[in-house]
Amino acid sequence: MRTALCPGSFDPVTMGHLDIIQRASGLFDKVIVLVAVNEEKKPVFSPDERVELIKRVTSSFDNVEVDQCRDLIVDYARKHDATAIVKGLRAITDFEYEFQMALINRKLNNSVETVFLTTSEEYMYLSSSAVKQVAHYGGDISPFIPPQILADVEKRLKKSR
Ligand code: ADP
Repeated sequence: MRTALCPGSFDPVTMGHLDIIQRASGLFDKVIVLVAVNEEKKPVFSPDERVELIKRVTSSFDNVEVDQCRDLIVDYARKHDATAIVKGLRAITDFEYEFQMALINRKLNNSVETVFLTTSEEYMYLSSSAVKQVAHYGGDISPFIPPQILADVEKRLKKSR
């Protein structure tokens, strides 16, 4: 039984995230999408809201679970017998940070391997912060957010403007 974690902020979950989750779900027996709660960041969506949105967009994948985590990801991995951390890589901007995190995580827990996946080209430049910025200026975010949650995400982002 191979379990992988897909950690991230998911504030909110985008088509880019969903693409990575879907690819991971085809490669591993079980995937836990993990909302990493970082007190230093100022998210728009609460951890519970982010978990609920991810649950809705992944409900058709029967090997995907969603959880939240306030501890080190590698400690969560140890507790849940996960052997891989799956990260999405966008254009070069993600590389340096993700490479550093992967090496630090390996030092912390040598039994967890970081695996990098790339999205479809259409989502290569997509990020949650770009979605929030577009919404802030009243732009159309429908190409970037899964249709099942679009109306709720739009409503919520409008409220936070
Ligand atoms: P964001 O930058 O969108 O807020 P997160 O912090 O939630 O992203 O990232 C969680 C993971 O998903 C990271 O590994 C990140 O590189 C990856 N990811 C996010 N958006 C994309 C995308 N459009 N294509 C590939 N990977 C992505």
